[in-house]
Amino acid sequence: MIPESVVQTLRTSLRGSTFCPGDAGYDEARTTPNATINRRPAIIARCAGAADVIACVRAAREHDLLVSVRGGGHSVAGKAVCEDGLMIDMSGMKGIRVDPLRQTVRAETGLKLGEFDRETQAFGLATTQGVVPTVGIAGLTLGGGWGQLHGKYGLAVDNVIGADVVTADGHFLTANASENADLFWGLRGGSGNFGIVTALEYRLHEVGPVFGGAVFYPAAQAREVLRFWREFAADSPDELVTQGGSFRLPDGVPVFGIAACYSGAIGDGEKILKPLRTFGSPLADALSAMSYLQIQSMFEAFFPPGRHVYTRSNFLRDLSEEAIETMVRYVAKSPSPYTFAPFVEHWHGKATRVGATDTAFPHRNYSWNFLAWSMWTDPSETEKNVQWTRECCDAMRPYLVAGSYGNYVTDEGEAIAREAYGCNYDRLVVLKNKYDPTNFFRMNHNIKPSQATHVKDRG
Ligand SMILES: Cc1cc2nc3c(=O)[nH]c(=O)nc-3n(C[C@H](O)[C@H](O)[C@H](O)COP(=O)(O)OP(=O)(O)OC[C@H]3O[C@@H](n4cnc5c(N)ncnc54)[C@H](O)[C@@H]3O)c2cc1C
Repeated sequence: MIPESVVQTLRTSLRGSTFCPGDAGYDEARTTPNATINRRPAIIARCAGAADVIACVRAAREHDLLVSVRGGGHSVAGKAVCEDGLMIDMSGMKGIRVDPLRQTVRAETGLKLGEFDRETQAFGLATTQGVVPTVGIAGLTLGGGWGQLHGKYGLAVDNVIGADVVTADGHFLTANASENADLFWGLRGGSGNFGIVTALEYRLHEVGPVFGGAVFYPAAQAREVLRFWREFAADSPDELVTQGGSFRLPDGVPVFGIAACYSGAIGDGEKILKPLRTFGSPLADALSAMSYLQIQSMFEAFFPPGRHVYTRSNFLRDLSEEAIETMVRYVAKSPSPYTFAPFVEHWHGKATRVGATDTAFPHRNYSWNFLAWSMWTDPSETEKNVQWTRECCDAMRPYLVAGSYGNYVTDEGEAIAREAYGCNYDRLVVLKNKYDPTNFFRMNHNIKPSQATHVKDRG
């Protein structure tokens, strides 16, 4: 338990709001989009600025409190919320300033993708973020950040040029290519392991309307669609990003859909995507020219808050015939109508031309990322859905590599962390030893320091 005096000090000294059990707003503040997560922090501090974050870290350190950090709250493992500790909630910090001349943006880490995109698009600019606007820029970027622009401009991490960070000892540091460069390297893929990032600075790019949307095929055509897509994607220019898999449309019809976004000239996109529209017999073709903000909100309706979520993901060795056959066995078989599985993202272009050790995010050599993203509404169906997801992923195991994109993985533990940080794991441990030797920040895919001595393990 947190001593009452500490709670009172935080309540009276912060510029932002605090919420304790019984307070109006407490339940809302501890609720994340994933309904499975039901933890009760002793106090939630909705910080108003870096000074609040520093005060929270120093108080937690002094009194040995478990800390969690919330950006957008979308961690599929629910890492934003701790049980009985101090939850440092960044969602009130939404300052953002675009510099249209330098084509950069400085964004506080309470921003969600939709809010970020709206501000940058006001200047005709954007940078890679994910594809669901309610997700937080912080968790997404620090873990990697795959999205519609990754082929042309790299992952979100590849566009970060600086970060403001409160470290485990309560100090405020700036990390960029010339200041604290080791920390800058580790932040770009090391998730929240090294500190609380209060602001991120990104490089922006001119992004106008795009040509994109989705084509939906009957689930029964999944095999032919996957084979076709494999060939089609092999020739994709950097501007074209595709992802697809098995899910149900809102009216319940099971489909195998391929979503696409071409971020170059509209006419070129129309031409390049023609084979996707003319292949087989699609049930529906929803490809058209649209604004970048439109395409960035296209998936939102499929991910409303309040569903239970369990996810697994690993990169595919390749999209072999055997992998396709195995996937086809699971198409339209999920026990829940809200699940996206089996699902595949095409990773290519600039994101895959960055060296595996250039940033802490190591997965640069794979073309296909396999996901099983299960969602359901009735908590009594949790076991059934988790079991099915595991079965589907286990069946795929022979075709998957050990590497995984940690932001897509619910399960935890050292083996999972090693899959997420890959070839950079040992270097990240060295960095953890330097910046967080007591494992103060451990509500994440945790990089354990070599000797975490004096913090009790309550994570
Ligand atoms: C519906 C949905 C769609 C998604 N789509 C994509 C996608 O298109 N592309 C993609 O790459 N990923 C995607 N993801 C995965 C997403 O990147 C992760 O879930 C990510 O962790 C969410 O970040 P958040 O800030 O919303 O979550 P949070 O739960 O708030 O945070 C996630 C982790 O980051 C840490 N963290 C948060 N803020 C900070 C901070 N300021 N400083 C330090 N650490 C911090 C937290 O402690 C936690 O460990 C999606 C997830 C969901 C649920």
